Amino acid sequence: MTKKTAIIGAGLAGLSCARTLRRAGLDVEVFEQDAAIGGRIATIRVGSDAFDHGAQYVCAKSPEFNDFLSEIKDLGYAERWTPQKDGSANLSTPGPWMVGTPGMSSLVRPLTDRVRIDTGRRVHTLEWFGKGWHAWFADDTSAGPFDAVAVATPAAEARPLLGHIEEFADALARVRMAPCWAVMVHIDKQVFPKQDVFSNVSGIIGWVARNNTKPRRNPDEETIVVHATSAWSREAEDLDATAVAEELWDEVSRALRLPPVRPAHMTAHLWRQGFVDQPLGEAYLYSSAHKAGIAGDWCLGGLAEHAFESGDRLGRAIVGALV
Ligand SMILES: Cc1cc2nc3c(=O)[nH]c(=O)nc-3n(C[C@H](O)[C@H](O)[C@H](O)COP(=O)(O)OP(=O)(O)OC[C@H]3O[C@@H](n4cnc5c(N)ncnc54)[C@H](O)[C@@H]3O)c2cc1C
Repeated sequence: MTKKTAIIGAGLAGLSCARTLRRAGLDVEVFEQDAAIGGRIATIRVGSDAFDHGAQYVCAKSPEFNDFLSEIKDLGYAERWTPQKDGSANLSTPGPWMVGTPGMSSLVRPLTDRVRIDTGRRVHTLEWFGKGWHAWFADDTSAGPFDAVAVATPAAEARPLLGHIEEFADALARVRMAPCWAVMVHIDKQVFPKQDVFSNVSGIIGWVARNNTKPRRNPDEETIVVHATSAWSREAEDLDATAVAEELWDEVSRALRLPPVRPAHMTAHLWRQGFVDQPLGEAYLYSSAHKAGIAGDWCLGGLAEHAFESGDRLGRAIVGALV
């Protein structure tokens, strides 16, 4: 009989795991708390504009991720982005900058082939009883039994689900993640100096990008994504989103010496588990005794490529145990 597996989290790690399990012939069901898939590889609509408010671009070091990016580029889900940069050392990355098209969230779509995904389903408890794992949701319904379960969420969110397994508890406690405030701004004219991206702008602003310079966006609508530094975001975690948007835009204008311009609209989003401060240092966690595992970018580092590798490696471990 086909073995049934459940994955919690439809970010890049969860969906990369799903693809590996599916390719091995296992039945896969993914539970995602948000209405959309992709996690921090995200594209948000604000009015008629679309902003990539999480990951900005991806690069491949490993042959596996490079192959994946080439594959999805051929399918029309990704293209190369060559923005005007400021030439600072921290913008040097291993390969070309690739972005999802028409939005970053398109990067994960090719991983969903023949995978059942239930969005708007936050799992609050995972429990093994009878013949397998069962997932419980806020409305007191459940799904299961599953022969194995993979949790592909940020470490803090994995803890209430699988932290009761002793061999996972210590590992999860070692990981540290940091918040990031993102601000999406629409302005009616181009006011930036001859550059499309800016990094380490000030102690408050970590990143500014002209989102509309990415391929297959509307080049005529000036859409800006701003990321605050982790240090500032941590201090501002409890602030109101409107106040954050105002403060960060003022800081961008000041630090980049922009001519005064009143945004047509702006909005802020807090990624509570945004960046990885202290990774685990292992590709994934898996317990063959419990038939349960954990994956995420935080296992290896904190980039999209790490999430992809972590999910794939956990998938292979589950296939090895079940097939
Ligand atoms: C602001 C920002 C900028 C970034 N820029 C870049 C960049 O330019 N390049 C790069 O390579 N990386 C970048 N990253 C990092 C990159 O986005 C991440 O490494 C990657 O997306 C992590 O994928 P993941 O699957 O591990 O986690 P996530 O994307 O966080 O996915 C986890 C998923 O689990 C879901 N979930 C959590 N708990 C539950 C639950 N209980 N039940 C159901 N679902 C649940 C969440 O909703 C989410 O969809 C950036 C990140 C941020 C925040």
